[in-house]
Amino acid sequence: MFPDTITDEIGRCFCKDHLRETCHECCMSFDILNREAEEDAGLVKRKTEVERAAEDYAIALHALQGMERMYPRPSPEVFAENRQFLREAEEKLRLFSKVGTHVEAAKRAAIQEQRSQDMQQRAILQAWKKSIREKILWSTVVPKHRKSTIK
Ligand SMILES: [Zn+2]
Repeated sequence: MFPDTITDEIGRCFCKDHLRETCHECCMSFDILNREAEEDAGLVKRKTEVERAAEDYAIALHALQGMERMYPRPSPEVFAENRQFLREAEEKLRLFSKVGTHVEAAKRAAIQEQRSQDMQQRAILQAWKKSIREKILWSTVVPKHRKSTIK
């Protein structure tokens, strides 16, 4: 599927060098894909409708919060699209709650899941930036005879 990865019998991916699902050295993360593979293989129970709606809600909320921090800001259309997505998820959750389904726990769990995925992605990004920085440092080492002109 990807270079430098191995895939197990149910389609989960790991980095080839360390056999890790999330690897800060290889800068890869397969946790989302692997959870899906586990669901497909029947290893974990499929998400209920409420859990899926809560997941949509958390994803939209998280996307909107992330977009607020972006520079340059995404276009008003992108904001409108995500707000619409959030409203639809809220509406679904509202309907579930109307028929007596508890949605708060599912919402909390989904938001928590987004946060932990976000933290993992940040860690990967940090590791990636660091490795890029090192590469840039190495590639910009100034040849000795030119150093005097650059002080
Ligand atoms: Zn690795």
